[in-house]
Amino acid sequence: MSATLPYPWQQATWSSLFSRFRQGQLPHGLLFNGTAGVGKRHMANCLAEFVLCSSPQNDAACGSCKSCELIKAGTHPDLQSVSPEEQGKAIKIDQVRKLNDFLGQTSQQGGYKVAILAPAEAMNINAANALLKNLEEPSARTLIILISDAPNRLMATIRSRCQAVAFAVPALEEASRWLSPLCGDHKPEALLNMCSGAPLAARDLLDDGRLEARLSFADDLNQIAAGQMFSLQAAARWMDAEPLMLIEALLTWLQSASRQEVQGDIGQLMESELQLLQLLQTVGVKLRFRLYDKLLQSKAQILSGANPNQQLLLEEIAMDWQAMMASRKPMRPAI
Ligand SMILES: [Zn+2]
Repeated sequence: MSATLPYPWQQATWSSLFSRFRQGQLPHGLLFNGTAGVGKRHMANCLAEFVLCSSPQNDAACGSCKSCELIKAGTHPDLQSVSPEEQGKAIKIDQVRKLNDFLGQTSQQGGYKVAILAPAEAMNINAANALLKNLEEPSARTLIILISDAPNRLMATIRSRCQAVAFAVPALEEASRWLSPLCGDHKPEALLNMCSGAPLAARDLLDDGRLEARLSFADDLNQIAAGQMFSLQAAARWMDAEPLMLIEALLTWLQSASRQEVQGDIGQLMESELQLLQLLQTVGVKLRFRLYDKLLQSKAQILSGANPNQQLLLEEIAMDWQAMMASRKPMRPAI
């Protein structure tokens, strides 16, 4: 069995983390933050494995000691991962209390105890307050790794007690090299551009027809703009898709349109996206921002577990889009 190794674009972050750990300079609380799909969770796994391994190599866990085997089996008693019980819901106080009990006990394998919380911003206020004590006065040999795509949604007191580790989007060339063997007939750069350059998000697009769903969403938006599809008809077609995926796609296109305005060429894109960005260039910045803000609110609502009515949500997106596209045409003179 081999150890979990960081992705190629994570080498610098990895070196800094494991060398600080070796020198006893790693703080008890770390906050891994950055765009979704750049490998924060993966790095947390690498670090947990390294910290718990009983005979680590120079820069990685050994992959074969008892501790490494327990980790691979998902049964290491000194490693706890906490996530919402249901996707999109909150991490509750009871879950954090259990984690506190775990952190308060002596480690079973005689080494460190490691806790991973993801997504950390899913902790509700009570849960976050319950975790604070452990971040303020950690027991010896504990490591708490918080993972967050949206660290600004974390309580300031939590943020200030952790050392932030920022995960940047890798250079396009490096990410393309990694993605290339996985993406068949598709162009890696075009896939990466669909995901703001996040390699794991681009890889996930290739799973379960996500790419097709996203491109067909782009086609529908193009058709609405061309007057070939009604907004409500489009919304009905989107009912089978994950609303969050649609919102994120549209957010990315709006971002890309702004980027295109500043940079000019933004690299390879899929044909339907290219068309969409051309359309977006013809809409005023103010209107684009208004839609962007509204989508961000809907995204936050979904992530907070509020469970909005899906049909209404999709109809609103479709109608907002239609209205925005209609605004491109000159006003007809009043009769
Ligand atoms: Zn090991």
